[in-house]
This record gives sequence, C-alpha cells and structure tokens, in this order.
Amino acid sequence: MRRPLMAGNWKMHKTIAEAVAMVNELKGKIADVKDVDVLICPTFTSLYSLSNEAKGSNIKIGAQNLFWEPKGAFTGEISANMIVDAGCSYVIIGHSERRQYFGETDETVNKKTKAALNAGLIPIVCVGETLNEREMNVTFKVIEKQVRDGIKGLTSDEASKIVIAYEPVWAIGTGKTASPEQAQEVHEFIRKVYSEMYGSISEGTRILYGGSVKPDNVAELMKKTDIDGGLVGGASLEASSFEKLVKFSK
Ligand code: PEP
Repeated sequence: MRRPLMAGNWKMHKTIAEAVAMVNELKGKIADVKDVDVLICPTFTSLYSLSNEAKGSNIKIGAQNLFWEPKGAFTGEISANMIVDAGCSYVIIGHSERRQYFGETDETVNKKTKAALNAGLIPIVCVGETLNEREMNVTFKVIEKQVRDGIKGLTSDEASKIVIAYEPVWAIGTGKTASPEQAQEVHEFIRKVYSEMYGSISEGTRILYGGSVKPDNVAELMKKTDIDGGLVGGASLEASSFEKLVKFSK
C-alpha cells in the first residue's frame, strides 16, 4: 500500500512573510489529514522559516534543487546538507524547468539524486516528455532513458526511498492536463522500468503526477492504480486550493 504524497512546488513565488502566512493558514485547514503526506517546496530563502512554521504539524518542507558537492567554491549553489540543516526532508530534482532553462541533464540528475540520498533527503526525481516528443511517438523512449540514467546505480535501500514525478512538459503551467488514462499509461510504464532496475522495490515506489493538477481533476487522477500523488505548481499557491488537493479523497 503506497501512502499518497501531495507536494506543492512553489517555484520562484512568495516572499518569506507570504510563505509563512500561507503555511500557517494551511496548517489549520489540514490538521485532521492523517492519510496523506503533505509537502511544500518553497524558494531557498524561505526554507528555514517554513521548517520552523511547520514544526509539529503534518506539513513537510522540501527544496526545489541542490548541488551535488558537499561544500566548496561553488558560488550560488546549495548543498544537500545545507538543505537538511534548514529543516527539509525532501528535494525536487530534475524539474523540467531546470532541464529546460538551467542545463540539467540525466547525468546531473543522477549526481544530485545520490547526493540527496547521502544526506538523508528524499529525492523527488522528475521525468517527462515535451509536446514534440509526444507527437513524434517517442514518449516511452524518452521516459525510459530519463528513469534509467537519472536513477541508476543505487543500493536497494536508496532505491526504496526515491519518489518519481511524471510531469509531461506540455502539461506544466499550461492548463492542459494529461487525461487520467494518459497519465496512468506512463506511470505503469515507469513502474515497470523501475522494477527492471530494482525488482519488487518498485511496488512501494510513489509515482506522482504533475501538470496542471487542480481541485477539479485531482480525484480522477488519484483513482488510477499507479498514480500515488501530485507534484503541483499553480494550484499549490493558495491554501484553499491546496487544501482541496490534499483532501482529494474526501
Ligand atoms: C510543477 O510545477 O511541477 C507543475 C506541475 O506546475 P503546474 O501544476 O502549475 O502545471
């Protein structure tokens, strides 16, 4: 039985004060939720304050990126241990915006995934095809390469901690959601690839869907066998809307 995870990716939104205010509001709204893991990934500058604000609640805090070296002359970068030090338990790795605008590759995703695991963070490794790739019928080929190269070389223990997020690039921030069937098809495929890599561990691996998840489509998506949660951008920025996502089954 996989425990659902609803994760908010705030991207480059909210000042520290705005972030704290929203987590404070959200805490009250979802205090009774016991059967879903809830995660907020704000900007680096808000991590420490939000970790303090979320203490004692059912909200976990995660970062949106990290650098794989532990320390050194890497201006502008943040290490996995620094993220742990700020109170985080998760980190998003290889989001398509990082692949698209900041040169993230499967190789850097792999290094970051290992660095996260070494520090005790749970990596949420993002994969997804572009519209062009979907139209060229190479979705499965693209996803397979991202999974195999991005998450290779782990011990069984490490492999059991990973969360994977399937985020079709054409559905992120566009208002176009993959249909539950389209998403399920790829989630099932990802689980199959992961099982070829790590055996029965894949049965317990949470695979999140991301791409214009909203209060009005979350329930249908979550009904699918291999969809274990959401990685949500836009609809995670307001407490009332994120509350509805977290309470998808109610
Ligand atoms: C995301 O940020 O990963 C995302 C899926 O964004 P949105 O929900 O806005 O499409």
